[in-house]
Order: sequence, then structure tokens, then C-alpha cells
Amino acid sequence: MSPARNSGASVTHLHPEHLLDKLDDGGLSPAERRQLESHTAACSACRFELLVRGDLAVESLKHSRGRDVCLGVGADA
Ligand SMILES: [Zn+2]
Repeated sequence: MSPARNSGASVTHLHPEHLLDKLDDGGLSPAERRQLESHTAACSACRFELLVRGDLAVESLKHSRGRDVCLGVGADA
């Protein structure tokens, strides 16, 4: 009834899916990219999302799986 400790909205509570989409589309600005990176640093869920998409963390999964993921090839054919 009294949510006393709800003052700070945790970053991990809002998953920047729009940023993920933009990243996928290659239209992410440096600022947005940074925002996304700092979020994924704390949010394992989005981190995994990035891994799956294989964009930002491409270097981290290089040794993991090469091109098993179906990356979105050029949005406009
Ligand atoms: Zn997230």
C-alpha cells in the first residue's frame, strides 16, 4: 500500500527495445548506442538479445558462434 522505495526507476526496468530495433536497422546514433550499451551492461536479458542479434557484442561471441544467427540482411533489398 505504501511503495516507499519506488523513487528511482531502474534502468533495467525499461528495456530499450526500440533501440535494439534501431540497432538492427543500423540507424542507431552514438548516444543511443551508448545508452543501449549501458543498459545491457546491467540487463542480462537485453544483453542476450544483443548476442542473438549479433551486433554490439559481436566480438564477444565471435568465439562462441560464428554465423549461426540469422542476422537481418539489408533492410532494403
Ligand atoms: Zn533490458
